[in-house]
Amino acid sequence: MKKIAVFCGSSLGFNEIYKNDAIKLGNHFVENSIGMVYGGGKIGMMGILADTIIQQNGEVIGVIPGLLRHEEVAHTEITEMIVTKTMSKRKVKISKLADGYIALPGGFGTLDEIFEALTLGQLGIESKPVGILNTNGFFNHLIKQLDVMVTEGYLKQSNKEMLIVSDSVDELCTLMLNYKAPEMTKIINKVVK
Ligand code: AMP
Repeated sequence: MKKIAVFCGSSLGFNEIYKNDAIKLGNHFVENSIGMVYGGGKIGMMGILADTIIQQNGEVIGVIPGLLRHEEVAHTEITEMIVTKTMSKRKVKISKLADGYIALPGGFGTLDEIFEALTLGQLGIESKPVGILNTNGFFNHLIKQLDVMVTEGYLKQSNKEMLIVSDSVDELCTLMLNYKAPEMTKIINKVVK
């Protein structure tokens, strides 16, 4: 994987443990020559992650919609900033650039982005790995909700299993590297393409 899109909070959260894992992920990207694609912000988890990579001369590509590109939020020190007209065009651009997706703790924006990536996988439009870094069990309740969706007949178990979960940066990245999309997904993918 050459480039991974990371979705994460525009806030830092109250517990340092999340920030520390963002730094760990940034270090892992630099050590393994993986470029990061992200929302282009300099605030919260996004900013910490981008700073960690940039300070070590790693690659950071921001993709930001014009409306968010004002001084208070947009990062100015990254490798490249791509400005899109709309939020939806930003998602398309990020998906064109990235070989996989990771979510770190965040809020609505983070969930919106990671679930869009999962939906693309479910429909077979993409077959890229999608992972969440479950620092401090942050996503445990969300994972339980996915179980409810399976039990109640709204989500296939096989689709649920597309989501890669780990609370360790190294393990998550290894699992993503070894990810193989379900066979069915690949067949649909061929038809769509
Ligand atoms: P949230 O989880 O609600 O804090 O939203 C964070 C996610 O939404 C990030 O992955 C970004 O792609 C996007 N996002 C939200 N706010 C901003 C912002 N101020 N600047 C850039 N991207 C943002």
